[in-house]
Amino acid sequence: MFYRSRSNLALWFTLTMGSILVVFAGVLYYQAVLNELGNLDRLLYKKSRVMAVNAKYDLRNKQLDLENVPLLGSNVAPLGTELVYARWYDTKGQLVQFFGIIPRAQVTAIPGYQTLKTTLYSSKEIPPAIWLRQLTLPVYQNSSLIGYLQIATPLVSVQNDLARLRLVLLLTVPATLGVIGLAGWCLGGIAMQPIHDSYEQLQRFTADASHELRSPLSAITSNAQYGLISQSTDIEAQRQRFGKIFDVAKSMNNLVNNLLFLARHAGRLSPESLQEVNLKSELVQIADEYATQEAVQHLNLTYTFPTTSVIVLGDANLLEQAVVNLLSNAFKYTPAGGQVQLRLFTQSYWAVIEVIDNGIGIPEADLPHIFERFYRVDKKRSRKTGGYGLGLSIVQQIVSAHSGHLSVKSVVDKGSTFQIFLPIK
Ligand code: ADP
Repeated sequence: MFYRSRSNLALWFTLTMGSILVVFAGVLYYQAVLNELGNLDRLLYKKSRVMAVNAKYDLRNKQLDLENVPLLGSNVAPLGTELVYARWYDTKGQLVQFFGIIPRAQVTAIPGYQTLKTTLYSSKEIPPAIWLRQLTLPVYQNSSLIGYLQIATPLVSVQNDLARLRLVLLLTVPATLGVIGLAGWCLGGIAMQPIHDSYEQLQRFTADASHELRSPLSAITSNAQYGLISQSTDIEAQRQRFGKIFDVAKSMNNLVNNLLFLARHAGRLSPESLQEVNLKSELVQIADEYATQEAVQHLNLTYTFPTTSVIVLGDANLLEQAVVNLLSNAFKYTPAGGQVQLRLFTQSYWAVIEVIDNGIGIPEADLPHIFERFYRVDKKRSRKTGGYGLGLSIVQQIVSAHSGHLSVKSVVDKGSTFQIFLPIK
């Protein structure tokens, strides 16, 4: 699926960029043609002007003495390499004299520029069927038209320049298209990467969640089944079974709630859900609630809060959930008689909530993974404490949603320190 999407992205990218490139190359070529012809036309015009101005007009024969103008010579050859012919027409457009290639009987004197393929009788030097650019210039003397001067030059150099340009375009356009295709493929890969990652994460998450739900469900089913088929009248045994079903259902409920929580609170918090939260009073409240709880009776719990309030922008309930998760882990993984500390302080622009315990600690190899969903350092010890490996993922998600970050330090059998950093308002 991802491979196909990536190929499609690359294809569309190549097609779009390729069309732009081809249009661009077309415009470039068209501009080059106009440029080349423009230059040639200017040159032709200049030449014809020089000839018209310098040649003497023979009034009697109605001829222009072209032979003695600087650009021409005494016969064909002096027409030079640039001019193929020069012709003089009278005012009615009748050919009067010519130099260069012998014209056909029918030639016209339409003023202006023309591109034509020569259909003239060719001399030895000029190959047949050559493309020419021709200019027919009306010539005036004392403001009255005396005739038309027509000169032509071969388009060979223009054609050669354009052929070179065509060759360059022909080589560079496909090569650029190839590069665009490759870039499209790479960009497609980069664009698809986050989708690919989150898809894989989702797949893993669904697989893990179903796996985790399977064991409690089978525990409920087997206990219920046994209760149904058992002939025993022992009320106490029946109560124990119901008790087991109840416990497992409760922990499953917990798991489902955590999963829903993770799904619901993915991503950053919306600005409208942000409120000013006084972290100090929130933590004091949590400490008060824990003071009476059985979970901490066997532990030595201490609190260190600053004298002034520490305000952050966020969701008070979510932040409370994050601290509660860290504290309950500290309680779970610290043996009786151990010590758990909850601290709040500020560090430059950050408010830091610190939960320290001197419990069993986390092996170094597990530290990079403990924030992953369903990751448990030791399944057996978590199972005993009822954990599914979602508590720290939830903390991580909440902290990220508040634009904060999380850090952990831990040494096996010495204890762990978790720190939540939140930007101070
Ligand atoms: P669980 O619900 O299993 O506790 P968590 O995501 O909260 O899942 O924690 C992941 C793992 O990290 C736990 O399985 C536990 O082994 C380890 N852990 C978390 N907090 C502590 C702690 N304070 N001391 C020792 N181990 C801890």
